[in-house]
Amino acid sequence: MIDLTSYTTFGLPARTKELVKIQSVEELTSLHERLRSEQPPYYILGHGANVIFRGDFPGLVIRFAGEYLSIEDHGDHTILVASAAYDWCDFVETACYQGWGLECLAGIPGTVGAAPIQNIGAYGAEVKDTLRCVRSYDLLEGTFHERGPEELEFGYRDSLFKHTLRQRELIYEVEFRVEHSCLDRGRFLRLGYQENELHGLSPLRIYDRVLKIRGEKLPDVEQIGSAGSFFKNPVVPTELAEGLLEMYPSMPTYPAEDGHVKLSAAWLLDTDGWKGHRKGDAGVWHLQPLVLINHGKASVEEVLALSEAIQTSVRQHFGIELEREVNLVG
Ligand SMILES: Cc1cc2nc3c(=O)[nH]c(=O)nc-3n(C[C@H](O)[C@H](O)[C@H](O)COP(=O)(O)OP(=O)(O)OC[C@H]3O[C@@H](n4cnc5c(N)ncnc54)[C@H](O)[C@@H]3O)c2cc1C
Repeated sequence: MIDLTSYTTFGLPARTKELVKIQSVEELTSLHERLRSEQPPYYILGHGANVIFRGDFPGLVIRFAGEYLSIEDHGDHTILVASAAYDWCDFVETACYQGWGLECLAGIPGTVGAAPIQNIGAYGAEVKDTLRCVRSYDLLEGTFHERGPEELEFGYRDSLFKHTLRQRELIYEVEFRVEHSCLDRGRFLRLGYQENELHGLSPLRIYDRVLKIRGEKLPDVEQIGSAGSFFKNPVVPTELAEGLLEMYPSMPTYPAEDGHVKLSAAWLLDTDGWKGHRKGDAGVWHLQPLVLINHGKASVEEVLALSEAIQTSVRQHFGIELEREVNLVG
């Protein structure tokens, strides 16, 4: 068995029967042959920044490992094509030298290939905004696919890859477009800039600001195990939000679609007293209660028990069901 502890950012103990590293697109066809003939259980893994294995995995953990990046200047915009294995943080830094679009997504741990899966987002930006197409391989059918954002049903932390394409298609390459001029600098006000500062901004300055803000609020995955936000922000019917606002007038709310309102899961957990909570070696980050952490030797059971206690408490106090953002395997 192969130890997977260091293959996820949470650092929880788990092993797998086999770890398969795919170095090139050409190797995908032989992987398909093998999956078809042996039919083993398998799981596609990036950098493991959003994954918890419940225990030992009885099959193949598959990682696309071939790294490449191409950059093409088109006058008013640049096209970047990155392989799935490319480190997301490095990719965003490179993209910020080329143009506008990805700067708010700086510092999100993981790979380029995983970014479309849950349509990663931060500070009002989502990966769908700059993504041009996703190239993937159907591991069961042995077929190649290319899809634009309009086909991928992107939503809040959601895409087709979390539904019908889940664990079926492996993303091997993603194409992005960044713009050479920024048409909407006003959106950076939420990063703390003043109106009079907006004109002199560049993607790299925003990138640095985002890294600084994230560094002040989130645990460093090199030091403290976590998977980022453990829960999604709940999207609830307007009537429920209005009822809560009568009791908690300062509760933040954000517009959502179809008579719904998005609430801040961090606010709910903070108000419910979870910030800094610790049970055994599983804990809640003291600066951002949405982030559950591993104090060192946490077990999967400890982390899941803590997450369930939080869900129960939020259900009892606010009548809201928190949905997990982290992918549980097994
Ligand atoms: C400290 C911290 C902060 C974070 N902040 C944010 C944030 O601000 N915004 C945000 O949206 N997320 C955030 N996350 C979550 C995480 O960074 C993202 O979900 C990231 O995209 C995960 O990338 P990964 O390569 O580690 O994917 P993994 O965790 O390895 O996999 C995630 C999912 O994608 C699938 N997958 C991975 N690669 C592929 C592929 N090539 N083809 C098909 N399926 C694949 C996996 O099967 C799994 O279901 C944070 C996480 C941490 C630890």
